Amino acid sequence: MNIAGRILVADGAPTTRIIAKVRLTTACYEVITATSGAEALRLAERSEPQIVLIGPALPDMTSAQLCTALRELVGMADLPILVQAQGAARIDALRAGASALIDDLEDDLTLLARIRGLMRSDPLAQASGPPDILAEPAAKFRHSERPHAVFIAGQPGTALGWRHALQRGLDFAITVCEPDRALADAAYGQVPDIYLIAADMNQPGDGLRLLSELRSRPVSKEAGFVIILAPERLDMTAVALDLGAGDVLASGFANPLAVSEAAMRLEAQLRRKREQDRLRRETLRQMQWAMSDPLTGLYNRRHALPRLAAMLEDAMRAQRHLSVIVMDLDRFKQVNDGFGHAAGDAVLRSVAQQLSRALPAEAVLARIGGEEFLAVLPDHPLHAACEIAETLRQQVAASPVPLPLGCPAAEIRISFSAGIASLQGSQGPQDPFLTPDLLLSQADRALFSAKAQGRNRIVLAGAPVAA
Ligand code: GH3
Ligand code: MG
Ligand code: MG
Repeated sequence: MNIAGRILVADGAPTTRIIAKVRLTTACYEVITATSGAEALRLAERSEPQIVLIGPALPDMTSAQLCTALRELVGMADLPILVQAQGAARIDALRAGASALIDDLEDDLTLLARIRGLMRSDPLAQASGPPDILAEPAAKFRHSERPHAVFIAGQPGTALGWRHALQRGLDFAITVCEPDRALADAAYGQVPDIYLIAADMNQPGDGLRLLSELRSRPVSKEAGFVIILAPERLDMTAVALDLGAGDVLASGFANPLAVSEAAMRLEAQLRRKREQDRLRRETLRQMQWAMSDPLTGLYNRRHALPRLAAMLEDAMRAQRHLSVIVMDLDRFKQVNDGFGHAAGDAVLRSVAQQLSRALPAEAVLARIGGEEFLAVLPDHPLHAACEIAETLRQQVAASPVPLPLGCPAAEIRISFSAGIASLQGSQGPQDPFLTPDLLLSQADRALFSAKAQGRNRIVLAGAPVAA
């Protein structure tokens, strides 16, 4: 059986624990139960659950106290905690850091949708791979200091009413807008931290469709979403949660307690959203770090070789051109020996910069060795790659590199030699057995030949070797 996740259920009443265990085990969760707050704390540390569900009947502490204590454990500051509570205990739990509240009589569908929603909050699990994550445009409001919420209802008066009720309890900038306007703003990257949307607008379910639409767009999908349902439509809660709502509130903030609770639940969504932003940024930073060379900022060998393999495969499938240029600085050891390692580093940085500025945008440039660079040029036949390499060669040879203070000279001249190989070879059709390694070794042989011919020159793979 595939386990969907590990859940710690804490409650003093045996029947509640048994029912929760049956409901969650049926849905393929691994369930650990604790009969008291103290036991829950011990088990949380030992078994590292993905979610904690706190029932209303702990013998030794309140739900809020257990929330606070869990949050203080190492590594649990962001652990999703679901609290089943009534009346004032709900506010206490939210204040103590509960991620979401559940009602006593929550049906299985809703409970499981809530748990799925909280499981979804791990951005690493959501990331669909490096290219997607890196290609995502950033939302403009993402890092603004004051939280921004957009309220959307069928009638502007309704959303204004929510704003009137909630504004005092929330330090948010709140904008009221029409659904179309929200979509248009999102298209321009104007995305708030939180959307509060009425599930039903002019037509039943309009708001849920808007939620889906905003969640499907790269810029707005990372916002927090809270859906408002009329009390008689609360059976739609599970649907809203599965569509990506972080929480669902019942409409009609009739009394001060309901208003405070709604405000705190919006704040909980904001905290969760900001934490996810932070994790996403951290993931991105680590991915960039893993794929780039710290000295020059170019891609490193570890990233470049699989990338070349993928580009070669695409080009072969689509019967398109592809060329590689392997460049190696000439007599670079003499730079280090004569001017010091810092001068060598300055030369590497400067050449990397010149290459990346001059290469076409679609080229992939990497530092694949100490003083060796690789450029992959999709859609470039051999002669086009050769023209580019020759321009680069002349440019680098003609641009003395300024050296850092303390070096024995103010600037230094450097050149490189290059070997070029192409998917189509020097003439003729594609080689159906070409692999990335073979292509690179053809370029390497040409580079070797360029060195043998006296350096500071370009040699094409398959070209006759000069004496
Ligand atoms: P050739 O023209 O035949 O390529 O000669 P070369 O001197 O460039 O080649 P060789 O392979 O003998 O020397 C490469 C040098 O590059 C040796 C190594 O110390 C230096 N090197 C490698 N990585 C770095 C680096 O990150 N910084 C500096 N400053 N030097 C580096
Ligand atoms: Mg070398
Ligand atoms: Mg060299």
